[in-house]
Amino acid sequence: MNEQRVLQNIEDWVRAELEYEKFLKRAVELAEDGLNSGNQPFGSLLVDRAGNILFEDHNRDNTENPTAHPELAISRWAARNLSEEERREAVVYTSGEHCPMCSTSHALVGLGKIVYVSSSAQLSEWLSELGVEPASYSVKSIQEMIPGADVEGPHEKFSQQVKALHERYHTKNKE
Ligand SMILES: [Zn+2]
Repeated sequence: MNEQRVLQNIEDWVRAELEYEKFLKRAVELAEDGLNSGNQPFGSLLVDRAGNILFEDHNRDNTENPTAHPELAISRWAARNLSEEERREAVVYTSGEHCPMCSTSHALVGLGKIVYVSSSAQLSEWLSELGVEPASYSVKSIQEMIPGADVEGPHEKFSQQVKALHERYHTKNKE
């Protein structure tokens, strides 16, 4: 590989890495919007192959209904608005790993890669530290729900921010 080519590859890698961080940061911002609107702090966005944000949302579990998770909203939006190929190529960036309901919706709709900041295992650990009752359903990883899923996470660079949002939510709710 010549020098020019190596430099080009490094540039592409840095650009991809920056894009990546931009979307994870956006997922955390959306989680905070969720918190500020009275819901649990979870945020997710759907990005197409060219890097355009197609749809984004945050949890609305308290203000709408307990199943109003952003990842489920993404699956529904994608089913209505994208072709099979577009769905397969789209990437979901999310502040927290999908719950089993959202993983299932992701698989049913045939969406592509998932990149998450914090894992469900991390969340369970944080909630138990905060003295929150465990979930009333089995908490399973995306890979357990969707064998062969293309998944990346956790991303420790942002996970402390997500943890702080959950602490804010549960501390406020105890008062
Ligand atoms: Zn969910």
